[in-house]
Formats: sequence, structure tokens, C-alpha cells
Amino acid sequence: MFGKGLIKGLGITGKHLFNRKVTEFYPEQKPVLPPRTRSSMYLDVPKCTACGICANTCPNNVITITSGKDENNKRVLTGYTMDTGRCLFCGLCTEACPSKALHTTTEFENAVYVKDELLWDMMKKYKADASKQEEGKDNG
Ligand code: SF4
Ligand code: SF4
Repeated sequence: MFGKGLIKGLGITGKHLFNRKVTEFYPEQKPVLPPRTRSSMYLDVPKCTACGICANTCPNNVITITSGKDENNKRVLTGYTMDTGRCLFCGLCTEACPSKALHTTTEFENAVYVKDELLWDMMKKYKADASKQEEGKDNG
């Protein structure tokens, strides 16, 4: 049994010895992650109805939502924060969202030096992403 595992291991090592070497030039070149990678969250704010289902679904109490009423007495989202330091990126909240407003994304450079910065204001993030996209359009 020991011999079989050793031969298998050596076989894998041998295979990699003769494979073409790949050097990734990160951070100059960003790796393309598999499309199903879950490493960040995105809230499409206009689609969110502030129903709170995502917050109730989350096993780690990551999501905090506040809402108010507009002039037509319709519920509107006033605040949406995620404490991403506690987030498992399990995707339960995104699956539960009836409006398809919440998504996981492949964005992965989320490291911070200060713990408080792990608390994401998703409405601010949405606005920042929207203005970045606008800038991109303006620059060509
Ligand atoms: S991905 Fe999982 S842990 Fe993170 S907010 Fe959603 S349900 Fe909670
Ligand atoms: S479940 Fe969807 S629509 Fe409801 S509060 Fe969460 S993100 Fe918004």
C-alpha cells in the first residue's frame, strides 16, 4: 500500500517536471478566476426591495438592512451593510433573494489593514462602482 502511493506521487511529480512552466505576473496581470468563484458581494441597489429575506437567511448575521417609506408609502431601502469579516461567501443570501439583487462576484482583492473596513456599505459600494463604470465610458 505504501509503495503504491509513493509511485503515484512520483508519477505526479514527474508529470509536472516536464510540463511547461507558468509564471503568473500578479499583481501586474490579474488572474482570471473560474466564473463560479465566490469572493465578494455586489448589491444591485435599484432592484432591492428591502424585504430583509437575505438578512434572515444569513447564518452569520452578516447583513443589516434599514428601510423607510417613500411618498407613496412604499418600502424603500435606506441602508444595507455587510460585515464581510464574518461572511462565509456561502451564497445562501443570494439564492434566497427574490429580486436577484444580491450577487457573489469574483473580485478578490478585499484585504484591509483595519478591521472596521470589513464593514461594507453596499449602497456606497454600488454608487462607487456605478461612477467607475461612467468614468470608464467617458475615457473610451
Ligand atoms: S454569503 Fe453566506 S455568510 Fe455571507 S452574507 Fe450571504 S448568507 Fe451570510
Ligand atoms: S433579499 Fe434581495 S431584495 Fe430582499 S433585502 Fe435582500 S437583497 Fe434586497
